[in-house]
Amino acid sequence: MLDTWTLLIIDDCAADRKIYRRYLLKDPHQSYQILEADCAEEALALCQKIRCDVILLDFCLPDMSGLELFDQMQQKIFETSVPVIMLTGRGDEEIAVKAMKRGALDYLVKQNLTQDVLQLTVRNAIKQSCLQAQLSKTQERQRLIATTALRIRQSLNLEQILNTAVAEVQQLLKCDRVMVYQFAPDADGKIVASSVESYRTVTLCDRIGAGDRGLGTGDWRQGDILITKEEFSRSPIPNPQSPIPYIYELGLCNCVSLKEQFNTKANLVVPINLSNNGNPTPKLWGLLIAHQNSGERQWQTDDAQMLNEVSVQLAIAIQQAELLAQTQAALAKEKQLNAFKSQIIATVSHEYRTPLTSILAAASTLVKHSQQLDESKQQRFLGIIEHKARYMSKLVNNMLLVNQFELEKPKFQPILLDLLQFFSELIEQERETTGDRHELIFKITGNNQGFWGDRGLLQQIFTNLISNAIKYSPDGGTVEFHLIGKESEVIFYIKDQGIGIPMADQENLFQSFSRGSNVDTIPGTGLGLAIAKACVELHGGDITLSSEVGQGTKVIVSLPKICPIAKLSPSST
Ligand code: ATP
Ligand code: MG
Repeated sequence: MLDTWTLLIIDDCAADRKIYRRYLLKDPHQSYQILEADCAEEALALCQKIRCDVILLDFCLPDMSGLELFDQMQQKIFETSVPVIMLTGRGDEEIAVKAMKRGALDYLVKQNLTQDVLQLTVRNAIKQSCLQAQLSKTQERQRLIATTALRIRQSLNLEQILNTAVAEVQQLLKCDRVMVYQFAPDADGKIVASSVESYRTVTLCDRIGAGDRGLGTGDWRQGDILITKEEFSRSPIPNPQSPIPYIYELGLCNCVSLKEQFNTKANLVVPINLSNNGNPTPKLWGLLIAHQNSGERQWQTDDAQMLNEVSVQLAIAIQQAELLAQTQAALAKEKQLNAFKSQIIATVSHEYRTPLTSILAAASTLVKHSQQLDESKQQRFLGIIEHKARYMSKLVNNMLLVNQFELEKPKFQPILLDLLQFFSELIEQERETTGDRHELIFKITGNNQGFWGDRGLLQQIFTNLISNAIKYSPDGGTVEFHLIGKESEVIFYIKDQGIGIPMADQENLFQSFSRGSNVDTIPGTGLGLAIAKACVELHGGDITLSSEVGQGTKVIVSLPKICPIAKLSPSST
């Protein structure tokens, strides 16, 4: 089926009009609806009433010249230019040229006019004008998109980028609401920006219970509205005068007619794809959604294309913002590591000096005076050397471990553990090094089957906690180690009767190099609890502490029997 074009012949000669009409209606390639006017006044009146696709305009009219009429038509009537073909007499080509300079598309010399020439000229004029219209529309679109892109990409702050994008797209598409939905790596994702910042949710439900209305909890915001479907059908908008738009959430609604009213056609959705490190398949970051609540809107291909092009620009902006954020994070990490290294150097020089001095003193006494020293004194000096060397070795190990935690997550290799056997051995080892002044009590209760843990990390946790309990009870006393197996987790209590920890210090003790203000001369580097916490977290567990100065300290560790894999970083699996 051919499109029918509306063509207006403006000519005072009825015979000529008849010829043109006949020629054009014979065109096998194009169909026309032909209008006629024999003077300028009639032509102007017609043009105001009916939109013409092409005009044949005689150069000489009874009430005005063709050129004057052309000028008037351009100024008054046409919003978009209609192609005009001038009809001139032989020898009047000069007028035709003038008309073309003012925007007429073509001219024809009446005396030379044949059927073929007229048909071809009109068809070409229409084609050319269509192309021009298309071109200017594309140019306008490109201009708008370029402006939008510029605004979106002016910022490197993700939140700002997204907010600008939704506001700009709303302007561009003249729609009610624009949203950016971001996919989460493991779950569904959420709306991260919306062009309608402040809105109320109207939730439709079957029934409202006492106290339901005006809910302000959970997913609800203060002022959200809950109405029944029945109320809704009577008055769809709770308060039409409200300056705040209403967004209808249909989560609770299963009424078909309402769903149809707000069906998915109201949304125009395009993906936001980020480039994927040279990988040909892009990474789907999220969705850009244009939404129309009011009235029926038929989204056009043009709308979709615009949204798509903005989404490409938005993707670039997001990628730049992410890169910046990554660089900033790397810089911050670098700074943190530098500070950490300085701390290590300071600690090493401080903490090493004292035991080294003792070792050197003991060693040189042995070297110089071994003959004068009896067996037991020699043993005492050797004991000092061994003890201090062990302490230094532990310090180095702890420092390496903490460094490893700072740089990357260490390997987490859980196995099914027999808790009774594991802790009996560990407590036995501890008892060997504990003097007579401390009594180590081990209790195990509950269901301890089916526990998965990493041996090395568990050892780190509990040797640190037990050694703290002993070390910070210089006057001796009991140290209780209690293990309680529950359905899906195991709880450990380590309780001592030692010096306790001042309230003000308790908050920071799980950070590296942090020590209580009451340690006095008790040696330590402040790394044990930081290591224990990191190991507990790798198990997906939790560690807390309660303490009172002079009364003692209780540390509670809870570990899930099966560590939730989702919590682990890829390097630790
Ligand atoms: P190390 O690195 O050798 O373990 P540290 O014992 O000082 O040194 P953490 O185990 O991290 O380091 O403990 C941090 C601080 O917490 C200790 O210096 C101490 O002040 C306080 N603390 C920890 N456990 C106890 C406890 N059971 N009783 C009293 N204070 C404690
Ligand atoms: Mg310690």
